[in-house]
Amino acid sequence: MSAEVQTLLGPFGAAQARKEAQDAQCAICTRMIPSSGEANIVVTRSDDPAEGLQVYFTHPTCAPSTVTTLATGSPRNPAGDDMRMTALPAPAHGRRLPILVAELACPVFVAPNEHAELTGVLSPYLQEHGFGLASDTTTPPPPAAEGWAAVLAEDPAGAQAEEIGVLSIADAQGTDFFIGTIHTPPTWRRTALERGTVALYVGPARLDPTDPDTAAQCRQLQHAALGGHLLAATVPLLDYAAL
Ligand SMILES: [Zn+2]
Repeated sequence: MSAEVQTLLGPFGAAQARKEAQDAQCAICTRMIPSSGEANIVVTRSDDPAEGLQVYFTHPTCAPSTVTTLATGSPRNPAGDDMRMTALPAPAHGRRLPILVAELACPVFVAPNEHAELTGVLSPYLQEHGFGLASDTTTPPPPAAEGWAAVLAEDPAGAQAEEIGVLSIADAQGTDFFIGTIHTPPTWRRTALERGTVALYVGPARLDPTDPDTAAQCRQLQHAALGGHLLAATVPLLDYAAL
């Protein structure tokens, strides 16, 4: 971490950034940064101090650890808003909901000003929309703001229709939160559509959407929740074919 970045983040923010960089994805090449490897921490700030700082992570070979200033109105997130979505079955016990987990392809953190605590770039938006901190994935999350909905459609190509679907999630204003293909575990689609609601977790859980070992992925999710990394809400799930 460059001295300039270290000074801007302060000792607490710098320690937090070092921790978040472990197993994060590089904002330049999108490959994983191994927890045993080195990461560079890059900070961007706008000309407008009210917009605060954005913090992201790269391999040392992909970008230097620097503080860059972006003019107001220019794109602020170099990694874009790409997300990956993992579907996991409802936990085995109790009246639990099928699970969706949304992760930014490259985690970006924000701080309101220098020497402030870093939070996930989506956190303020999600908290305004009814999402709460998920400290335990075995209890159902609070409902999202009215109007949020997830819609599941069959894979248009028709191949592997049970395991590949197209998912869109829109917020209360009708803005797309996510739209893309999703790999669903066996029977997930039918079970989730029958239930009509899902627990949507958002945060760096570091899951693999195609890993057939969903029990291991659920443990990984619980680990991220215990670490305070996830926000969650319950969202209605609709079948596109029934709309
Ligand atoms: Zn890289």
